[in-house]
Amino acid sequence: MQASDNKEAVNGATQTVDVVVVGAGFAGMYMLHRLRGMGFTVRVFETGSGVGGTWYWNRYPGARCDVESMQYSFQFSPELQQDWEWTERYAPQPEILAYANHVADRFDLKRDIRFNTRVTAAHYDEGTARWTVTTDQGDRVSAGFVVMATGCLSASNKPGIKGIDSFKGATYHTGHWPHEGVDFSDQRVAVIGTGSSAIQSIPIVAEQAKHLYVFQRTPNYTVPARNRPLDPEYKRAVKADYPAMRARAKTLPAGIDLRINMRSALGVSEEERQQEFERRWAEGGIPFMGSYIDLLLKAEANELAANFVRDKIRAIVKDPKVAELLSPKNVIGCKRLCVDTDYYATFNRPNVTLVDVSETPIEEITPTGLRVAGRDYEVDAIVFATGFDAMTGALLRIDIRGRGGRPLKDKWAEGPRSYLGLTIAGFPNLFTITGPGSPSVLTNMLPSIEQHVEWIADCLAHLRAQGRRELEATVDAEEAWVGHVREVAGVTLRSTCSSWYVGANIPGKPRIFMPYIGGFPAYVQKCQDVVANGYEGFAVA
Ligand code: FAD
Ligand code: NAP
Repeated sequence: MQASDNKEAVNGATQTVDVVVVGAGFAGMYMLHRLRGMGFTVRVFETGSGVGGTWYWNRYPGARCDVESMQYSFQFSPELQQDWEWTERYAPQPEILAYANHVADRFDLKRDIRFNTRVTAAHYDEGTARWTVTTDQGDRVSAGFVVMATGCLSASNKPGIKGIDSFKGATYHTGHWPHEGVDFSDQRVAVIGTGSSAIQSIPIVAEQAKHLYVFQRTPNYTVPARNRPLDPEYKRAVKADYPAMRARAKTLPAGIDLRINMRSALGVSEEERQQEFERRWAEGGIPFMGSYIDLLLKAEANELAANFVRDKIRAIVKDPKVAELLSPKNVIGCKRLCVDTDYYATFNRPNVTLVDVSETPIEEITPTGLRVAGRDYEVDAIVFATGFDAMTGALLRIDIRGRGGRPLKDKWAEGPRSYLGLTIAGFPNLFTITGPGSPSVLTNMLPSIEQHVEWIADCLAHLRAQGRRELEATVDAEEAWVGHVREVAGVTLRSTCSSWYVGANIPGKPRIFMPYIGGFPAYVQKCQDVVANGYEGFAVA
């Protein structure tokens, strides 16, 4: 990288910058802040009209984080960490969006972000070792490096149900919720899906709607959030110990304190086990999966936790047939464990009907509703809580071409291949924050984002110091990493079900366990070793 690159210049229609960042969620925001602080010129493009990514788009009723707010936040700035006041154990979407805007304003980020602009293509020129990035607004930017901060869960999935466009009422996707909100009072509403987004929104929609029909293909396990206002004393204690708490969390597999009990579920008495599960159920949240160390390693241990939750469903839901339908049969924690407020109890309401579409899929969407097994459900509004083309969707919706003009789509035809989930052989100078092959969605995402941003920033500083312009993962290093990612995926029960982790929710998507499940500490160590060994596995030109 040369000094002249450090100025954003407009050459005719083509702008020149050091780095283009795609996306202004937490990843893109921190990447911009970090690079700008190092003197790089940066242009960020964002499809939305504001910052916040996930929290800008997912404004459905009940949306909130399921990692505790005091941990689901940036730690790169001690002052920011001390100043910001979270109000609830699990912050609601408006508060997280306000936090994102606070960060953007505090670090004066918005001036370098072009909103309402979607990156449509990024092509690599081997002659100049630069990327040309184009957008749907006619921008054309030449950049030495491109950082894809496009998000793991940002490309929404609307299923290809027959007649979907014929519906005359209102339709919504949880991941594209209207900014002005939606009032379902006096309406007959259909929610399609029973994943985390549906499970958070259903209890609230049910309170408003005249009647709510929930179309369930696969039941999901969910545990109570026990959300509550944060006690000022607790906040003070966390803030007093923040650096140490953050450091401890980084030694744990998910980069978050799940208070994992190191004992085996199979090595304790029935009575003790029941007590532990009850304690975790009462405490609320995803630490339920930390009840015992082997819940995701041994099917027998897992079944004990699954049975406990099924018993809870039977105890809460009054109609035994509905309780049975709501009871998942698969491994608990294989799909992401959901966290709810009054989800199961909602099915006791007289205005809520559960429609099982596991054996007989939704046949058709008609102008007035949905048809299942020959029966018509007339509704005024349909909510698609049908999730995302996760991890690869946002990347593959951009026409990315590397060496020799090779499209990323071709390279990933059999599933994503990357080195460390950060870089891709054949696509020099391109980085993916929390890309497939990194711990990403299996962790508290904020520390994972920070770790990637800092690794990329250090890498660019290294190249600049060495006077180098091009860095590319070698095919051998990539192969070895992909092999390792697959090998460790096989050790746990998490790759055994039809989840979005394996791409099973998107017809035709290759079935590969996409995130790295070897744990945050092992992954960070690997990234550090790569650097310590002179960027091992990379060709630097
Ligand atoms: P995103 O926030 O997804 O931002 C990516 C941005 O890139 C988006 O704004 C998008 O518009 C933009 N973009 C994509 N493609 C383009 C393009 N071609 N051109 C221009 N812009 C583009 N994680 C947790 O750890 N804890 C939680 O509690 C949690 N809760 C979640 C709740 C919901 C409802 C969802 C959907 C996800 C949740 N996640 C959670 C995961 C969450 O996505 C991450 O925590 C984090 O917000 C991701 O930040 P990001 O910047 O990487 O991606
Ligand atoms: P999801 O988990 O993928 O759930 C989508 C739901 O839609 C599933 O129940 C799926 O059924 C159903 N579905 C899809 N197509 C269908 C069809 N044609 N007919 C009937 N049902 C259909 O998506 P999500 O709920 O948006 O959550 C995605 C991820 O985002 C979560 O796993 C989590 O990581 C994150 N998230 C977190 C929170 C939080 O608590 N903080 C909240 C929301 C989201 P099948 O299971 O049968 O495919």
